[in-house]
Amino acid sequence: MSELRILSEEELKKYGTTWSWSARAKALINQQKATWETAASHYRSLRQVESRWVDFGHFRICLQHNPGRIRSSAADTGAAAVAARPCFLCAGNRPAEQYGLPWGEGYTILANPFPIFHYHLTIPFGEHTPQRLEGRIGDMLRLTRELREFTLFYNGPRCGASAPDHFHFQAGIRDTLPIEEEVDSLLRDHAQRLGDDGPTQVAAVENTLRRFLLFRSADADHLERLLTRTIGILPHHDEEEPMMNLLVWFHENRWTLLLFPRAGQRPWQYFAEGEEKIMVSPAAVELGGLVILPRKEDFLKITDDDLRSVFSQVTLSAEAFASVREQLTTFCVP
Ligand SMILES: [Zn+2]
Repeated sequence: MSELRILSEEELKKYGTTWSWSARAKALINQQKATWETAASHYRSLRQVESRWVDFGHFRICLQHNPGRIRSSAADTGAAAVAARPCFLCAGNRPAEQYGLPWGEGYTILANPFPIFHYHLTIPFGEHTPQRLEGRIGDMLRLTRELREFTLFYNGPRCGASAPDHFHFQAGIRDTLPIEEEVDSLLRDHAQRLGDDGPTQVAAVENTLRRFLLFRSADADHLERLLTRTIGILPHHDEEEPMMNLLVWFHENRWTLLLFPRAGQRPWQYFAEGEEKIMVSPAAVELGGLVILPRKEDFLKITDDDLRSVFSQVTLSAEAFASVREQLTTFCVP
């Protein structure tokens, strides 16, 4: 890959403190906003996005009307379309203004120029290699611990990743996704605990429109092993990775990780015409309770029942989830 545009320490320091990776990442975004007008205008328009809340009692969904995300929501991520376009995560194809910070073994931290969060990062691997989590969970946990003011997320290749052909994580500044503040009460009142005495707590959460598994651990190696085994029992086709999204953050010296097994990529409403159409393409952010709607009409008309319908189509059914939960119980109880 050509042209790795790396921001120098000297330049980075002009835009913020650099004592931690969170601070460095925020300084990078400040620098990009100051020197890259396209990205800056998208961050500015983020201040004006409209949002409204839908209250389901023990949890809430925030709807965000964000016209800047139309490219991502409407992206054709089919194999033919992906093969026909230049990959926007390859260093040689990035805009001239886009600079990054090298992290770990071969990753680059970049400002996401189409933000959902006031600080929004894309963290591609250096080589053009498919989106697949296998072998990268350790990297993900280390990166999360270092970017501790951020929530890291992973979108599977058919679960919202707009570059399914180039491995990447994303991260958004913490305390933006509704689920981050709901996790403790969900765990206390609305979760089935599957294993509690080992180094990793595991729970299954069901009555929040989307069924998911919740892991909490201060032990990275144990969490990595358990997560790897769990991914191994999720429904999947042939050699493909199971369809899934992950959210993970590091707080009070432990990781909180949410695993959303998926049953479908997009709901029927996405493909509908006319009145019935709702352009919504669920990925980790939506499963975290922040539903991005690029079209104003969808933002205005979407109902509680539409949200129930959309989430139920893209996440596991009660039966499929029960099967995962039962298998998980056999190896996670200490
Ligand atoms: Zn690429």
